[in-house]
Amino acid sequence: MRNNVIKKKFPIVFGVRNKDEAVLKQSTSGGFFTAVSDLFLENGDSVCGVVFSEDYEAIHVLTNEKKARDKMRGAKYVQSSLGNIFEGIERLLADNKKVLFIGTPCQVVGLKNYICQKKINEINLFTIDIICHGVPSPAVFREHIRFIEQKYGKIINYSFRDKEVGWRGQNVTIKTNQGRVPQKIAKSYSNLYFNSLIIRPSCHKCQFSTLKRKGDITIGDFWRINEENSKFNDNKGVSEVLINSEKGLALFEMCKEKLEHFKVSSQSYIQPNMLCPTEKHFATEWFWHRYLLEGFTRYRSIWCKLKLKTVISKIRRKLCKVMGFEKVGN
Ligand SMILES: Cc1cc2nc3c(=O)[nH]c(=O)nc-3n(C[C@H](O)[C@H](O)[C@H](O)COP(=O)(O)OP(=O)(O)OC[C@H]3O[C@@H](n4cnc5c(N)ncnc54)[C@H](O)[C@@H]3O)c2cc1C
Ligand code: SF4
Repeated sequence: MRNNVIKKKFPIVFGVRNKDEAVLKQSTSGGFFTAVSDLFLENGDSVCGVVFSEDYEAIHVLTNEKKARDKMRGAKYVQSSLGNIFEGIERLLADNKKVLFIGTPCQVVGLKNYICQKKINEINLFTIDIICHGVPSPAVFREHIRFIEQKYGKIINYSFRDKEVGWRGQNVTIKTNQGRVPQKIAKSYSNLYFNSLIIRPSCHKCQFSTLKRKGDITIGDFWRINEENSKFNDNKGVSEVLINSEKGLALFEMCKEKLEHFKVSSQSYIQPNMLCPTEKHFATEWFWHRYLLEGFTRYRSIWCKLKLKTVISKIRRKLCKVMGFEKVGN
C-alpha cells in the first residue's frame, strides 16, 4: 500500500501578536511567549525561562505559576545561569510531566543532549529557541548594576526594552528607590551590547546562527514587518514565529486563538543572525583596553571616543572606495 502522508515543509512562519494589550505592552516583541506558556500553566505543567534574581542575575527557573512566569517576560541581554535546571527538567520528564523550555539555541541544544544522554523520552519536552544576537558575560552586567546602584540607589526595576516610546525605541528603563536613572546612563550597557562590543568571543563563532533551527519553535522580533504586513507595523511590537516541527505546530494551533496572526510568504523574517554569527565591532580590542582600565565610571568618555572612531572609520572607508582601493582597513 502506498504511503499517502504528505510531509510538511518546515519552517512554517507566522507574524503574531498577543490580542491582550496589557500582555503585549509587557512583552519584548509580540507576546507570543505568554500565549504559548499559558497552555502549559493552565494544564498544571511547567515552564522554564529566564528571570532576574533579587540581585539582578539572569537565571533560568522552572515554574507552574503565572506570577513567576510573568517575570520571565522581557529579554535580558546577558548570559543566563542554568544552575542545575536540567536536572529539574529531567525529573519532571521522567515523571511523565510536560515541560516548555525557552532559551538561546545553544541552551536548547545543551538541554536536548542532556536529556538524550540520560536516556529519557523527550516526547513531553517542548523547546523554543530565540533568534540570538549573542550574550555578554554576566561579569560585565554585574559591574554595570554595581555602578548604577552606587550612584543612583537600589534598583527596583530594570527593563531592557520597555515600550514607552514604542517597540522600535529600544528604551531602557531602570528605576531605583531614589527615582529613575537618566536614559543616557540607563542605556550605557545596552549601547555596548547592541554595538557588539561586549558579547562573548564564542558568540562571534556561533554554529547556531543558521536557518536550521534547533527548537520546536523559534521566536524573535519581526523587524521587517513593513515588507510583509503594514497593518501590524504600528510600533506596538510583533513577533516572528518559526514553526520547526510537528510538536511546534501542535502548540501553535492550540494557542493561536489568543493571537492576531498571519502566515509569512516572503523571506522578510530572515535576520542576519539566522545566516551568520554577529561580527565583532572593529574597535573591540580598543574598547576592552579602555574598559579594563576605567570601567563603567568612565563610560561617557569611552562612548564618545568610540563614536568618533566609528565616524572616522566610515569616512576612511568611503574615501578608500572613491579612490578605488580594494582592501580597506579600519
Ligand atoms: C540575549 C538575547 C538576544 C536576542 N537577539 C535577538 C535578535 O538578534 N533578533 C531577534 O529578532 N530577537 C532577538 N531576541 C529575542 C527577542 O528580543 C524577544 O525575546 C523575542 O522576540 C520574544 O518575544 P516575546 O514578546 O514573545 O517575549 P517576552 O514575553 O518578552 O519573553 C522573553 C523570553 O525570552 C526569554 N529570555 C529572556 N532573557 C533571556 C536570556 N538571557 N537567555 C535566554 N532566554 C531569555 C524569557 O525566558 C522569555 O521567555 C533576543 C533575546 C535575547 C534574550
Ligand atoms: S550567539 Fe550562539 S553561542 Fe552565543 S548565546 Fe546565542 S546561540 Fe549561544
